[in-house]
Amino acid sequence: MGIRRAWVLTAAIAAASLLYLVPAGMAAPAPRKVAPKPAAADSLTATEFAARFQMRVADQGNCVTLRGSLVTVRLYPGTNQVSVVGDAYTLKDTIQRKDGAIRIPSRPAEFLSRQVLAKRRQMMAQRQAFKVPEVKLPPPAPRPVRRPAAKKPLPTKPTPKPIRAVRPRPAAPDSSWAPFATDRRWKWIVIHHSDDLEGNADKYDRVHREENGWDSLGYHFVIGNGTMSKDGEVEVGPRWPIQKHGAHARNHELGDNRYNEQGIGICLVGDFDEGGRRPTSAQMKALVRLTGWLMQRYDIPAHMVIRHCDCCDTQCPGKHFPWTAFQAHLR
Ligand SMILES: [Zn+2]
Repeated sequence: MGIRRAWVLTAAIAAASLLYLVPAGMAAPAPRKVAPKPAAADSLTATEFAARFQMRVADQGNCVTLRGSLVTVRLYPGTNQVSVVGDAYTLKDTIQRKDGAIRIPSRPAEFLSRQVLAKRRQMMAQRQAFKVPEVKLPPPAPRPVRRPAAKKPLPTKPTPKPIRAVRPRPAAPDSSWAPFATDRRWKWIVIHHSDDLEGNADKYDRVHREENGWDSLGYHFVIGNGTMSKDGEVEVGPRWPIQKHGAHARNHELGDNRYNEQGIGICLVGDFDEGGRRPTSAQMKALVRLTGWLMQRYDIPAHMVIRHCDCCDTQCPGKHFPWTAFQAHLR
């Protein structure tokens, strides 16, 4: 009996110590948790950046808008494109979306801070300038004596004055055509040919960057001929989503850059000049569709749809481009 009790006791102590040891043994090697380094040193979240300038953040996926009382900043995650009050900039580093936060690397963040401050000063100065004449305005003229209103006929129907700003926007036939940055006041549509037989947006993007030293493809749209993209496929260049000016129609002789600044560049793949070819019917169909939508969306009249050769010293888009037939489609 005594031995058995002792055995039971020993067993109980052993079990208890095992219970103690197992969790203790598991816990022992865990090192003390070190607080993660603050990420602020090499990047800033959009929320942190916005807080600096009392801005509100609206995340629309492709575009993150930081709106302050005077200045609006737009970031395009996954790209190095930003805009400050409608002016587009290309950064050296990419804006990234990580763990649900938009991260602005420190160099761009500093750059953006400077732009925001500069714009703010500019806007403040403009406001001040507008205020001066207000202060100097003479006192309002005495109101005319009221006449009996009985004679005034009631308007039979409301005055149908259209307001441009609230007119509904036509939906793009292809969702990728709709820009996601601030709208610009585009005045022209400039038609080009690529002056080679095979190509696509990627190819000309590479050429424009590597050979011309531009930051990206100069055209806003490229319409394929079935060689390196589908026949009639409309490819959207990197400038279009952020509504950046084009690089396709500078008049070097006159130093005239307005067709780049305010002209939408559309390029059809093909050589319609010396090459002797004509655009494919799928290309022309796509061009009519795209041009029609752009004209409607930006209020561009038919006479402002021009060929490259109409504004610059070039043969582009070539003598075999069916210009008259195309114009007939624009009404
Ligand atoms: Zn051209």
